[in-house]
Amino acid sequence: MRKLVAVAAVALVVLGGSASAGSPRPELAGLVTADDVRRHLIAFQDIAERHGGSRAAGTPGFEVSAVYVERRLLAAGYTPRVERFRFPYWREKASAFLGLEPERRYARGTDYATLGYSGSGDVTAEVEAVDVPAEGGGSSGCQMRDFTGFAVGAVALLQRGGCLFRAKAVRARRAGASAVVVFNGPGREGPVRGTVGRPLPIPVIGAAREVGVALAEAARRSPVRVRVRVKAVSGTRSGANVLAERQGGSGPVILAGAHLDSAPGSPGVNDNASGAAALLAVAQRLTAVGPLRRTVRFAWWGAEEVGLRGSRHHVAELGAQARRTIALSLNFDMLGSPNGVRGVYDGDRSLGVGTPAPEGSAAIERLFREHFASRHLPAAEQPFDGRSDYGPFIEAGIPVGGLTTGTDGSKSKAEAKAFGGTAGEPFDSCYHVPCDRVENVDRALLDSNADAMAAVLQRLATAR
Ligand SMILES: [Zn+2]
Repeated sequence: MRKLVAVAAVALVVLGGSASAGSPRPELAGLVTADDVRRHLIAFQDIAERHGGSRAAGTPGFEVSAVYVERRLLAAGYTPRVERFRFPYWREKASAFLGLEPERRYARGTDYATLGYSGSGDVTAEVEAVDVPAEGGGSSGCQMRDFTGFAVGAVALLQRGGCLFRAKAVRARRAGASAVVVFNGPGREGPVRGTVGRPLPIPVIGAAREVGVALAEAARRSPVRVRVRVKAVSGTRSGANVLAERQGGSGPVILAGAHLDSAPGSPGVNDNASGAAALLAVAQRLTAVGPLRRTVRFAWWGAEEVGLRGSRHHVAELGAQARRTIALSLNFDMLGSPNGVRGVYDGDRSLGVGTPAPEGSAAIERLFREHFASRHLPAAEQPFDGRSDYGPFIEAGIPVGGLTTGTDGSKSKAEAKAFGGTAGEPFDSCYHVPCDRVENVDRALLDSNADAMAAVLQRLATAR
């Protein structure tokens, strides 16, 4: 039933074309100005600056951002609703990793990295390599018997591979390890980065391959002591989605969303104040375009950067019945990358990568591409991988689409030719770091994406 309704809604819009069978309506894209969007961008940056430099989930910077959106919505005549949820929270406050014989201070980020949900502690103890090297059938901590003879209180040195980091760390702790160091497998650059998923009571760090191999070899000759120190906070925190609707007919709902939280330690102006600001500007002007045929629901998602928590919560809370009333879900994440591309999610899966797309996603891609073509603007397909707030909707079988201009991947020669910018450089070199400020945003790219958001949303909400 839902599938039929949803696909029909998209198909009608695509096939039916014009919305202006009656009196002509103002064009939403023409009402939303670059200045509208920019004002919100600056406001979000100010909020980050006044609250410790970020708008990350579970921090005051996020909560004040949510209040900002709510107030603007109220002023525009909406009745915003705040949907709260809990999410697991972990953050490293400080860490160190030192070799003591001979003395050596390993560098955070290149030699080692703390695994997510590591416990806190300050451990100085001998290293004990566990089933290392694990090449040739070893499991290095994936099985309890790997720890036979392990000295209680030692630091377990394990090689990556064979099972989850958590599985290795849990077994090491059961064997009496005071801390865990997991080093990288053959051919892998840099330290192991990852997470043990849920809080553990002992420090767990990832090390670069050369660091782990050298420690294992040294420990084979004579006792080697190391110091592992991690200070982290973990627990659960409160997150929020801000939702608002403009009523249309009784048919299925068109959802449009953007995440409002930033990565920790970043003001997150491109990622994703850009999407949140454009969405807010569109919502503010949507009241000026006359009656809608379909209800539009706006969503500013919380806690995207820590696992799509807000959108996941929303989809889970809807239940099967309410899910059927959503025709499609649009997502807008990073709309002005400084070395970006005008990216449309690859709903027809023509790139041949990513997760299967719910039926109807191809039609949404086509709407965005038609819009850009009508403005003689180049557009590129972006992998349909669900790694933003459209992921939970894909899992629920709801058609999705949207825009994104590139993260920390590097621009290809073909992309540089089509969009300008520098080949071989990241789309956004300030991705998830403190320099993601207003100056980091490509204004023209953001402006063209805000127009596309407005035009496609209006078409979906008003077409017969
Ligand atoms: Zn993002």
